[in-house]
Amino acid sequence: MKVVVIGSSNIDMVAQVNHLPAPGETVGDASFIQSLGGKGANQAVAAARLGGSVTFITSLGNDMYAEILKKHFKKEGIATDYIIDDVNQPTGTALIFVADSGENCIAVAPGANYSLLPGSIIHFSKVIDEADIIVMQAEIPYETIKRIALLAKQKGKKVLFNPAPACLIDEELMKAIDILVVNELEAAFISGIEYTGNNLEEIALSLLQAGARNAVITLGSQGVYMKNDKEIIQLPGYKVNAIDTIAAGDTFCGALAVICAQREIDRDALSFANAAAAIAVTRSGAQPSIPTLTEVNAFIH
Ligand code: ATP
Repeated sequence: MKVVVIGSSNIDMVAQVNHLPAPGETVGDASFIQSLGGKGANQAVAAARLGGSVTFITSLGNDMYAEILKKHFKKEGIATDYIIDDVNQPTGTALIFVADSGENCIAVAPGANYSLLPGSIIHFSKVIDEADIIVMQAEIPYETIKRIALLAKQKGKKVLFNPAPACLIDEELMKAIDILVVNELEAAFISGIEYTGNNLEEIALSLLQAGARNAVITLGSQGVYMKNDKEIIQLPGYKVNAIDTIAAGDTFCGALAVICAQREIDRDALSFANAAAAIAVTRSGAQPSIPTLTEVNAFIH
């Protein structure tokens, strides 16, 4: 299963603080954790751990993090040949304060992630030729996502798009999407239909009418809903002891991409992704929480 993930890499810098600093205030008792993130990187790691042969296309900056990330991706078995080095920007960074109350505030500096421009596609046209599925999220420029999706479609490749953070999708891009994966908030934003708790079919239908072939709506602990022109599949969430939902959505997308690379989306594929993501919420952190194929198989059987 050849999976090409095109998206963001971030360094997450998290300061755990007693309370969030007010403007001008210095909070002096923070504890600090640095971790590797970015939706693109998380989904590439998920697809690799879950059995995909993964190439990750991302843009890294002019700092020490570029090498750290490349080494990390290689260790995960991810091909890094098409990573772009941007000498003019820092690697994408998320600066996060988390208060003891759980409240947080976050500043994301996309840095090199935004230099993954449409013009760079020419360099990785070949890798798209060799892919079974192309996976993208919305932390890189929209025009790049659109150009890649149209190119992939033209080459007869599958496209899984996870528009997170939520962004509006024009008709041309929508029609190039085989599998649209959104949570319920993103689904409501993109369709323009408020989610009332019992109108998933209406929202999914609107996403299909807009052009996507399969609309997959993730529902947190409630599992997942999928609609295409043949069927509706709804699976409840696995009952687990959830401690941290970070990267649940990314684990879900990476898992679904691997399974759907060479076959159509079905109940088993959704169930596999639902299980992988359920395991992820039982562990803390983003990439450390993503399970391996062996772990998911053991969980399901
Ligand atoms: P995040 O942004 O936190 O990564 P998301 O908002 O993109 O996630 P969710 O719908 O919250 O996506 O979760 C994705 C999938 O993760 C769900 O469809 C489900 O399979 C799994 N999941 C999330 N939360 C739970 C939970 N509490 N128990 C079991 N499974 C869960």
